[in-house]
Amino acid sequence: MPKKENKENKKNKKSNNLYYLLASLILVILIIAAIGGYFYLEKNNKDKEVAYTEFVKQIEEGTIEEVEMTAGSNTAKVKYKDIEDKKTVSIPNTEAFTEFIQNRITEGKAVPKLNQKQVNPMLRVSGIFLQYLPTLVILAMVVLLFKMQGFGGEKKIYNGEENDTNVRFKDVAGLDEEKNELIEIVDFLKNPKKFLSMGAKVPRGILLCGKPGTGKTLIAKAVAGEAGVPFISMSGSEFIEMFAGLGASRVRKLFEKAKKIAPCIIFIDEIDAIGARRTSNSGAETENNQTLNQLLVEMDGFESDETVIVLAATNRPEMLDTALLRPGRFDRQITIQTPDVKGREEILKIHGENKKLADGLDFKSIAEDTAGFTGAELANVLNEAAIVATVNKHKAITQEDLDEAIKKVTVGIQKTSRVISEKDKKLTAYHEAGHAIVSKFLESVEDVKEISIIPRGFAGGYTLYKTDEDKFYISKTQMEEKLVALLGGRVAEKLAINDISTGASNDIEVATKIARDMVTVYGMSDTVGPISLKTDNPYELQLFGENIEDIVGKEIKKLMDDAYKKAQIILSENMNILHEVAQVLLVKETITAEEFNQFFNN
Ligand code: ADP
Ligand code: ZN
Repeated sequence: MPKKENKENKKNKKSNNLYYLLASLILVILIIAAIGGYFYLEKNNKDKEVAYTEFVKQIEEGTIEEVEMTAGSNTAKVKYKDIEDKKTVSIPNTEAFTEFIQNRITEGKAVPKLNQKQVNPMLRVSGIFLQYLPTLVILAMVVLLFKMQGFGGEKKIYNGEENDTNVRFKDVAGLDEEKNELIEIVDFLKNPKKFLSMGAKVPRGILLCGKPGTGKTLIAKAVAGEAGVPFISMSGSEFIEMFAGLGASRVRKLFEKAKKIAPCIIFIDEIDAIGARRTSNSGAETENNQTLNQLLVEMDGFESDETVIVLAATNRPEMLDTALLRPGRFDRQITIQTPDVKGREEILKIHGENKKLADGLDFKSIAEDTAGFTGAELANVLNEAAIVATVNKHKAITQEDLDEAIKKVTVGIQKTSRVISEKDKKLTAYHEAGHAIVSKFLESVEDVKEISIIPRGFAGGYTLYKTDEDKFYISKTQMEEKLVALLGGRVAEKLAINDISTGASNDIEVATKIARDMVTVYGMSDTVGPISLKTDNPYELQLFGENIEDIVGKEIKKLMDDAYKKAQIILSENMNILHEVAQVLLVKETITAEEFNQFFNN
């Protein structure tokens, strides 16, 4: 509370007190109202809820007909054989539940029908929001009141999460080079004296760069686990605070604590949230700068024999303030790549260890089908596969379950519930057939694996390609052909139905981005030449002549027009096949590579 001078007149003080009293009164009323509302809602919910233990008993007794689970949520709807009303149950651990059902299947016991439903993510978010609305209102009021009164703030400081990890390097698949680099840190933490007596300089901070889900947190935990030291973690976004100065003081406390329990590892996730390049000196920026400055002070303030190592993760190292990267701070960077095919196979193996797998599962072929997946996505594939296997009443996860799971993770869950008009279906059939047929005539485009007009995610249909290798470099021809394949959908709509739809909007967006990159990033346009135009600064662009923007625009348009024409030529020459494939799609909805290739055998 700001100190009040004695000479401050009494009247002012009095009105201040009155104000405080009034605000408190409002607060109390609001709290009572919110609690009342909460109990009311709770009671209404209670009536239709069944306890998990009761629910399990009912499954064993066989009184349940169907359980409807919703992806990403742990409440399920329960339909009974002889009661009209549905009830809800909250399943504390979906994995354990799936296992329970699977065990019953294995033992040949009866199980209810399981249904999995995908929920509109927006609805889910708003549901969660409504559920916590009363709490949010109270919280907001308390915070507001405290802020008005000018106290609070400093007292409650979150010290970061501390845990001893039992993660080891063997739990981190692939990433051999990265592990090798980090072994030095492990050695140091285990035996700092050895290093210090040699006069070795040990890095203070290491930046782990890579896409979300590539295992940065995991490998940081493994370093702590291998060294047998505590792991304190905090996320950059948690530092950003509405109370002035609190971010900085959190940083201070975090390091204070680390020094107390050293040797240890501090892990700062999303460091870009505090470490973004300092710009102006106003408003929210200043708060952020204070936090960043404190971090810099702490990084510099270590004694040379202190055994605290700071690991930080980011997906955008180029965004970081250069001061953070100076010697003695985060002066080492380790890039964590998305796994290659061998890495993916190893990750699948690790995450498959605690799952029931059918004999002869071929992780290698799954790894081949999942180019570009991160470790987190692969772990997700296996979890999905376990659910799919359970829904399909398989005793163990089969290859088909995994294929289905990959599709789910790639393109969202099959939206069977959506009603599609015949016209939409026809349009989609021609659109997808167009992609597939055009691709067949393009040397560098991968073979088609599956074509479908069943909507998944936001797409009305999809064409899946076989990915047979991890590509690090893509040639100009490959990019041009990719454009043709992408536009094949739109061209087919135009040729066959003489109408075009919004269904191609994503294709066009992706294609335009590729064409733009070809011209402005990869220097693939002859007219523009081999220069990079990747800059936000319009003046820098002017260096290449006043018309450079026009020229770039024309070049991009030319690439797109050429690709469109090429798709048009291919499809006009193969109209028969286009009609045939679309017809079969309308009947079968999904066709495989073998079925598709037969159209070209006559
Ligand atoms: P990041 O910190 O890079 O966003 P995480 O470390 O949080 O990613 O990874 C999320 C999850 O993905 C991990 O908990 C783990 O289950 C899985 N995962 C990611 N990479 C690997 C890997 N190389 N080996 C095994 N599992 C991995
Ligand atoms: Zn398309």
